[in-house]
Amino acid sequence: MANESCDKSKCASCDLDCPSRKSPQDLREPPNKLSSIKHVIGIISGKGGVGKSLVTSLLAVSLQKRGFRVGILDADITGPSIPKMFGLSGQLKGNDDGMFPAMSQTGIGVVSTNLLLEEEDRPLVWRGPVIAGVVKQFWQETIWDQYDYLLVDCPPGTGDVPLTVFQSLPVDGVIIVSSPQSLVSMIISKAANMAQIMHVPVLGLVENMSYVSCPDCGKEIRVFGDSHIEEVAEHFGYDVLARLPIDPKLAALCDAGQIESADCSALDGAAGEIVKITTGVTGASS
Ligand code: ADP
Repeated sequence: MANESCDKSKCASCDLDCPSRKSPQDLREPPNKLSSIKHVIGIISGKGGVGKSLVTSLLAVSLQKRGFRVGILDADITGPSIPKMFGLSGQLKGNDDGMFPAMSQTGIGVVSTNLLLEEEDRPLVWRGPVIAGVVKQFWQETIWDQYDYLLVDCPPGTGDVPLTVFQSLPVDGVIIVSSPQSLVSMIISKAANMAQIMHVPVLGLVENMSYVSCPDCGKEIRVFGDSHIEEVAEHFGYDVLARLPIDPKLAALCDAGQIESADCSALDGAAGEIVKITTGVTGASS
């Protein structure tokens, strides 16, 4: 039974299952009238600096190599790193119908606040609701023309922006990115619990910076100690989709804006899982 005193505007953050519950999907916003997007995948992390944007970029490259048309909505409004990884700069163009994503060398569409600013090192000193509003605008005002996958790179944590993404966009599922420190288990749990409260399926976990391969003998050196990802995955019933090593070549490619030249095979399993879950088949779109 619904609680008499319940405030129905809070349904999205309440985990009671009552008849008057409003689905979070009721708050979905329509995309631009000229957009056509088959699937929206969120990339989230409980904390910053775990390499979430790198994982988003490599997933985009991997999906694109399978023949899908892929876009990235950089929802990390105050710390956008996607344009730099793809070597994109300058300002987005638009017309009366909306704005167009910037195109990477291989044709991945990107929208980011860093592609709106005249000076890319200027900080955006905006409060949460304004930032969340920008994410909605990126969804509603961008012309995402014929995209198979839109990857949404969410800022770390469980604040306004991931909440807005989960409520306003038709998210098919999320991938949680983490690194191996033990405190991460608690932090992954926060992200996972948020997804559960919002009724968004978790497609699986990706552990970044899992180890370093010794250049001489190939032995895995666990810089951050032993991983706890399998335990967390088992606890929640999720799959570990990938474990990425710390690789100086990857860092150099990010810095050079050449992420599309990176070997993204470590994320092929994760990309395959996205395809399987969203289309029921593994392979390129028709
Ligand atoms: P987040 O989005 O979680 O804040 P980023 O993806 O922006 O983190 O990564 C931060 C920096 O760390 C990037 O400049 C990237 O080059 C580097 N980095 C992340 N993961 C790796 C890795 N596996 N190997 C080498 N460098 C990495």
